[in-house]
Amino acid sequence: MNPLYADMPLSIFERMSMAAIRHGAVNLGQGFPDFGWPEPLVEEAARLLREGSNQYPPSRGLPVLREAVAAHYNRCHGLQLTADHVLVTSGATEAIAAAILAVIGPGEEAIVIAPAYDAYAPLVRRAGGTVREVALRAPDWQIDEAALRAAVTDRSRLLILNNPHNPTGRLFSRAELEAVASIAREHDLLVLSDEVWEHVLLDGAAFTSLAVLPGMAERTLKCGSAGKIFSLTGWKVGWLVAPPAFAGVVAKAHQFLTFATPPNLQAAVAVGLAHHEWLTPMRAAFTRARNRLVHGLEQAGYAVLPAQATYFQCVDLAQSGIDMTDIEFATLAVERAGVAVIPLSPFFEAEPVTTMVRLCFAKQDSTIDAGLQALAKAR
Ligand code: GLN
Repeated sequence: MNPLYADMPLSIFERMSMAAIRHGAVNLGQGFPDFGWPEPLVEEAARLLREGSNQYPPSRGLPVLREAVAAHYNRCHGLQLTADHVLVTSGATEAIAAAILAVIGPGEEAIVIAPAYDAYAPLVRRAGGTVREVALRAPDWQIDEAALRAAVTDRSRLLILNNPHNPTGRLFSRAELEAVASIAREHDLLVLSDEVWEHVLLDGAAFTSLAVLPGMAERTLKCGSAGKIFSLTGWKVGWLVAPPAFAGVVAKAHQFLTFATPPNLQAAVAVGLAHHEWLTPMRAAFTRARNRLVHGLEQAGYAVLPAQATYFQCVDLAQSGIDMTDIEFATLAVERAGVAVIPLSPFFEAEPVTTMVRLCFAKQDSTIDAGLQALAKAR
């Protein structure tokens, strides 16, 4: 067996969700909501399934969804996209995989900003490339422009940015995005901009896509996720948006990964993308959930970090007076206290931060309250 896979641990999200099931624990680990999806989309998907939407759709995606994605971003970001810019994938993770496989050739390098979503680095290596990891600057997880610049070599091909950022919940500032953009332009890098959390914004925060910065539309491969927009993570409907010539190449990687994505789900998502009025209540509901979790955590003596977006709240164990590593705490929490959380160290390749854990607050009040009760026992 290929040691790249044989020696690879299972994804931390899968491990913690399986541990939650095994121990009957409340799952505040893997990021998925347990409330709040639009019922009309579920009805639409079910109706389409019954009416015969059951055979292969075009590999690049149903035209109706590709057009809806382009129209959605033209409206949100003032871009000038057409369906030719859009490739539909089976979740954003597949968009990330297809993009990395299509861009990175043997011996080429990708710059990854840590902490990083766990799929990026193994995919770069699978493509035959090398990972150059650049850490966000502690304690407030700022992009370190000098360190990013220093990571560029003549083999650099791709920079992978995740904004809003999982696991920290940070929304990078315009100045930080300008720094990334200027490095990409100067060194002729493509940027895989993982913007799956673009609509999950807290406290009225506003999001800027990297693609709107000068000179960036032509070098940005943006990925998006219907799962995050509509709280339907199990649908695994995502997309890549890129200049048509790049989208066409990524489509060739995609055709031999999943080939296509269930047509009824694609058509239902296309309907949902017209409903911009669903976004504000979704954000308000998640902001309320975040406030409930943070209030309870503070009452229980946990030190929380600020966050502007995503489903996630980080807790600083050291600042909370807890003398355990993130892995020790997460293990104890799920096995003894009855709550699954995500340790942060698996989001790093080298020099991991081992004193923080991530909690998912995209949950009903009763789930959050049960999680808080368990967390009070975990310390
Ligand atoms: N994005 C999700 C998270 O961060 C995990 C996705 C997955 O498990 N594939 O929790």
